[in-house]
Amino acid sequence: MSMHEFEALIVGAGGAGLYAALEASRAARTAVISKLHPMRSHTGAAQGGIGAALGNIEEDKPEWHAFDTIKGGDYLVDQEAAIILAEDAVRAVYDLENRGLPFSRTEQGRIDQRRFGGHTRNFGEAAVRRSCYAADRTGHMILQTLYQQCIKNEVSFYDEFQVLDVLIENGKTAGLVALQLATGELHVFRAKAILFATGGFGQIFRTTSNAFANTGDGPALLLRRGVPLEDMEFFQFHPTGIRGMGILITEGVRGEGGILRNRKKERFMERYAPTLLDLAPRDMVSRAIMEEIRAGDGIRGDRRIDDYVHLDATHLGKKVIEAKLPDIADFCRTYLGLDPADAAIPVQPTAHYAMGGIPTDNDGRVLADGSGALIEGLYAAGECACVSVHGANRLGTNSLVDLVVYGRRAGQNIARYVEATDFTPVGKEPEAAARSLIDSLTRGKGPHGGKIREEMKDLMMEKVGIYRNEEDMLKAVTELEKLRDRYREVRAQDSSKRYNTDLLEIFELQNMLDLALVTAASAANRRESRGAHAREDYPERDDENWLKHTMAWLNGGEVRIDYRAVDISRFEPKPRAY
Ligand SMILES: Cc1cc2nc3c(=O)[nH]c(=O)nc-3n(C[C@H](O)[C@H](O)[C@H](O)COP(=O)(O)OP(=O)(O)OC[C@H]3O[C@@H](n4cnc5c(N)ncnc54)[C@H](O)[C@@H]3O)c2cc1C
Repeated sequence: MSMHEFEALIVGAGGAGLYAALEASRAARTAVISKLHPMRSHTGAAQGGIGAALGNIEEDKPEWHAFDTIKGGDYLVDQEAAIILAEDAVRAVYDLENRGLPFSRTEQGRIDQRRFGGHTRNFGEAAVRRSCYAADRTGHMILQTLYQQCIKNEVSFYDEFQVLDVLIENGKTAGLVALQLATGELHVFRAKAILFATGGFGQIFRTTSNAFANTGDGPALLLRRGVPLEDMEFFQFHPTGIRGMGILITEGVRGEGGILRNRKKERFMERYAPTLLDLAPRDMVSRAIMEEIRAGDGIRGDRRIDDYVHLDATHLGKKVIEAKLPDIADFCRTYLGLDPADAAIPVQPTAHYAMGGIPTDNDGRVLADGSGALIEGLYAAGECACVSVHGANRLGTNSLVDLVVYGRRAGQNIARYVEATDFTPVGKEPEAAARSLIDSLTRGKGPHGGKIREEMKDLMMEKVGIYRNEEDMLKAVTELEKLRDRYREVRAQDSSKRYNTDLLEIFELQNMLDLALVTAASAANRRESRGAHAREDYPERDDENWLKHTMAWLNGGEVRIDYRAVDISRFEPKPRAY
């Protein structure tokens, strides 16, 4: 076992982790620990853009951006946090530009901007061009830019180290335990402050746009250490995944003018969102697609559940597509054997983004409960965190803003915190829990976890998906409890030390089962429809009883639920129409 010591530890090398590392490293000895090489983080898959009211093409204001974010989140957004997000987005984009990010440009050389779902001018009047982009490789460019800046700042990187446990002693953060993939060796890292930026967990669903590594390790291992998770019932389905595969076709296609059509070639969004049409928020567009399919107006798949709709970009022309959406064109050629300039793209909703996660304040500090109490030295940022700026439904382009705005704020707070704080001693055998976890997964013989994973994914997709009802969700909770029981029998089939991905996948399965259970239980508990949480048995939003954040704990296999107030200090909640 090796021991390391850093003032600040960042778990995760996506946009949130790298930005936090950049800021923390100005004042603190900082290390980034990542189970993937940083450049393979899911941020690199972000296509469409990063939203900021630069007003480069047409008039725009941060206030409008904040309003759209709050309304798009169906008023479950903490409004002060959304205002910070929208105001700081402008600085953040110019900052990325100054650090070398190659944005797409207008003919005058300014950062170009395109439309995106739910982004409007003047509080909902019409769509506005707010998304700044680097073709359809925006996230990839953000990662490149931040990674090279971290190298310059001499941040230490521990690539392909998987964090298994976090050490919290008497309510204070003391360190963590990670497994080095290449050797199978356990490493203990002591730290004054730890930030979790481990990304999303779309892998709990059958059809998802998320990478295989998006298994929610950070939220799950904190959950097991007594930290609550916030608003887990809100999971976004993106309307346009490639049919049958879930691979994302960016909203940027509709931002550039692409149109959704049903079997009769109708532009059906005219009936659901007369002002914003195809650029309504994602929860609404995903439901509209499902409604068309349910009404028999989808295009027929092999079986009824495989029905889909078309995303038509043929009228944009080859030149626009190749210049602004080159990767999308490649995906269509590779996975579908079609060119989007010649033929419509078959699409279906795909599980995409976790609005909920580790609860934090506006400086990334992790909350211990609904009263605002903190866990000292513990931070979270990015998709695994819940600030909450996305509320019940995130607008496109707002995650990348969240990473750089709140990643930066957390990093700055860490820099201040470590200067005023000493290390907390770790216990006698800090790696004991991680070692016994590995022992229990490798001792003796047992089935592989693959079947349990497949059953979990189907269960979540069918019973806790786009449309929900009490009976299905309670069944999902019961079934997940059974899967968690069966999980105890599971053993790694591979006993080798080096690159034992089998062992790590089983560890990830435990994380997903815990998060799936908390998601299903939080969803069954919320008896209203809001944003991405659409209940057939409670179809209306109910502000009187449910304008509050869920806080969920997992105690001995039981989910306990409490609440936290929503900050509605700026904009009064109104019904959502587009
Ligand atoms: C296909 C796709 C397209 C998208 N397009 C856009 C877009 O255009 N605009 C937008 O705003 N948003 C977009 N999003 C959403 C956005 O990209 C993500 O929410 C965001 O990138 C997440 O960043 P992150 O820094 O939180 O985590 P990630 O980038 O997912 O990084 C997570 C990091 O955590 C590490 N990690 C995880 N578990 C462990 C562990 N146990 N131990 C050590 N390290 C660990 C990983 O190695 C990785 O480095 C898109 C998402 C997808 C999936």
